[in-house]
Amino acid sequence: MARIKIDQLSTVYPNGVRAVDSLDLEIADGEFFALLGPSGCGKTTLLRTIAGLEQASGGSVSIGDKDVTSFEPGRRNVAMVFQDYALFPHMTVSENIAYPLKVRRQPKTRQREVAERTAGSLSLGGLLERRPGQLSGGQQQRVALARAVAIDADVLLLDEPLSNLDARLRLEARTFLKRLQKDIGITTVFVTHDQAEALALADRIAVMEAGRIRQLGSPRDVFRRP
Ligand code: ADP
Ligand code: ADP
Repeated sequence: MARIKIDQLSTVYPNGVRAVDSLDLEIADGEFFALLGPSGCGKTTLLRTIAGLEQASGGSVSIGDKDVTSFEPGRRNVAMVFQDYALFPHMTVSENIAYPLKVRRQPKTRQREVAERTAGSLSLGGLLERRPGQLSGGQQQRVALARAVAIDADVLLLDEPLSNLDARLRLEARTFLKRLQKDIGITTVFVTHDQAEALALADRIAVMEAGRIRQLGSPRDVFRRP
């Protein structure tokens, strides 16, 4: 758990596109925060810059009381779920969820324990020995979430994690996501271009436009008709 503080952050791609442009933003400890806006406005780039997957061209990112601007992604204690989940097809659900622990050389008993607990909280308990190919889209999405939170990260970054689901599964996934976030109290930044999704999930919403924040507030503030 941690607050995220972004000061005058810019991310410029080698082709000169200024995808994030002198952006200021503070996200509270434990907040569920949505980044909303049309395709190309810079949401993914902002998320990737917080994660350290893109290098900031200017400004700073702090997580908790640490300025992480120059930290490698692995040292930021951030978990990220992408649009395409990227599960390992040859591993079981249990092995997928425990993978981050394996990489960190945690004991096998600990890997198993965390996989079981995390799977349980996302209603995947009966599926631990299956492989991703034997799961529905909604189940795969929950495995990706479980894998992301298996390490005790400070921050959870979600890049349109529900966009590949049909309408019914999306509703179900929203419920899981909200419950998970509440259970572990993790600071969450959620990228979407779907207003209903932001409205259903977020404590606060930032609407982005051309690399900047155009509007910021509670769902009620942001969606109130003028
Ligand atoms: P969003 O997530 O809101 O759709 P992106 O962050 O993906 O927006 O993109 C913001 C801008 O940066 C767009 O103009 C996009 O074309 C550009 N962009 C994204 N990724 C790259 C990249 N790897 N190289 C160059 N330009 C990029
Ligand atoms: P998103 O909106 O979620 O970023 P996109 O379809 O815009 O998805 O981008 C998919 C991939 O292509 C990303 O890895 C992004 O960095 C890259 N990309 C996007 N725009 C550009 C661009 N103008 N030049 C180079 N790469 C880009």
